[in-house]
Amino acid sequence: MDFEKLYIGGKWVPSASSSWIEVENPADQTVVARVPAGNAADVDRAAKAAAAALPAWRATPLAERIALMERFLTEFRAREEELVRLVREELGSPEGFTRKSQVEYQYVRTRNYIDLAPSVPLVEKMAASTVYREPVGVVACITPWNYPLGQVIQKIVPALLMGNTVILKPSQHTPLSAYSLAEAIDAAGFPAGTFNLVTGRGSELGASLSTHPLVDMVSFTGSTKGGIAVSKSALESVKRVSLELGGKSPYVMLPGIRDYSVPIHILFNSILLNSGQTCTAFSRLLVPESEAEAIEREMLRIVPEYKVGDPKDPASKLGPMASRAQFEKVRSYIRLGLEEGARLLTGSVPEEGRGYYVEPAIFTGVSNSMRIAREEIFGPVLCVITYKDIDEAVRIANDATYGLNAGVFGEKALATEVAKRIEAGNVYINTSPRDTSAPFGGWKQSGIGREGGVYGMIEFTEQKALFDTGD
Ligand code: NAD
Repeated sequence: MDFEKLYIGGKWVPSASSSWIEVENPADQTVVARVPAGNAADVDRAAKAAAAALPAWRATPLAERIALMERFLTEFRAREEELVRLVREELGSPEGFTRKSQVEYQYVRTRNYIDLAPSVPLVEKMAASTVYREPVGVVACITPWNYPLGQVIQKIVPALLMGNTVILKPSQHTPLSAYSLAEAIDAAGFPAGTFNLVTGRGSELGASLSTHPLVDMVSFTGSTKGGIAVSKSALESVKRVSLELGGKSPYVMLPGIRDYSVPIHILFNSILLNSGQTCTAFSRLLVPESEAEAIEREMLRIVPEYKVGDPKDPASKLGPMASRAQFEKVRSYIRLGLEEGARLLTGSVPEEGRGYYVEPAIFTGVSNSMRIAREEIFGPVLCVITYKDIDEAVRIANDATYGLNAGVFGEKALATEVAKRIEAGNVYINTSPRDTSAPFGGWKQSGIGREGGVYGMIEFTEQKALFDTGD
């Protein structure tokens, strides 16, 4: 695979820029590859290729687009070993987790979009009109590093199925797996220009993508700060914007749970796996004051199961942080928590060695007004907050600038009642698994718009009402 090229107009081409971005393996700090630090001229070429491909692609019947996406899924699956290696090397996530959550789960999502595409209401009869949902046009997809494949799939699959053409700009930290996906798209036989890959830094390419006159929509997943910057420039020419941003998600353990180990495993799988670098991670644990001590004891018993180590070692459940910058950010938040007066039940301020490893850190004695409880840390750092009664639990859960995700564990009827009161796009009750067909997205500063299933495909359509009942 040639990481030194860009994929534009159905061909692998050199970048107009002569600068490079080195991709570092955070487990051992070696440079795995380098990719072009693309520039505005690259974006311009990609936008022209995407715009040129649009008329034919939007006119292609949905059944044909679905058939091509089926071929893509076959090609995607055929690259599993390569993708597992690339994601492990660019992100540092452990082999088992990488295979299951970073790679294989993306087949499930792709399958789900393919299966649901025929049920998207592309034509809807109203009282005296017909509403058509048409492709938005050229979509710029900007994605983060924490699920380098997943965030890309969540955009390019629904966008292409709905008849849009795409320019993908993956994160500069983890661009390698996107090359393998581009090869899968190429091998599947998508028409030239329907999908284009441009690599580079958001700070340099973001403005070109979000202001280019041929770009109709910007679909952004990343930090709230980045999302605001992209939106501001995209709105100068009133482009459609969809945003999947950060979170500070609460996990509420209700009073009277008989076996704490079940909810604690659910919680740890959320805040610790992927080293806590998950937008939906349950980073605030809300527990009844009278049970805090017993719950903390159980967490201390279970936490050693979440071993931190080399991503290649099958025993490792957590790898390193994805980059030096992320390691330093998490370290500074652990220091901050101690300065703010919280106590570390487990974990410590990490020392830098070979690889950016951080042991799970659980803060107790946290007040929801502390910065560690309000700001997204994006590391294996949990804040334990106590509550006196259910109303207070709901109040604390909702006292956040974010509203992406939440979990409630306890007696089913009460858990459902509490879940309904939480201000978030997704709320998990007890052991319920996630559902790829459900809409995924955030309230408040966690985003605008939805991904997943039918709603995630509607996001990439524009409505047109035809008043068609006259002669
Ligand atoms: P980031 O905002 O730094 O970068 C995300 C992407 O945007 C990258 O491709 C980057 O190059 C680009 N970018 C950055 N600044 C830009 C700008 N001004 N203009 C245009 N593009 C710009 O985020 P990150 O550190 O890569 O990812 C972590 C963040 O992503 C966390 O906040 C996490 O919660 C969030 N996230 C959200 C979801 C979700 O679905 N809600 C999913 C995954 C990650």
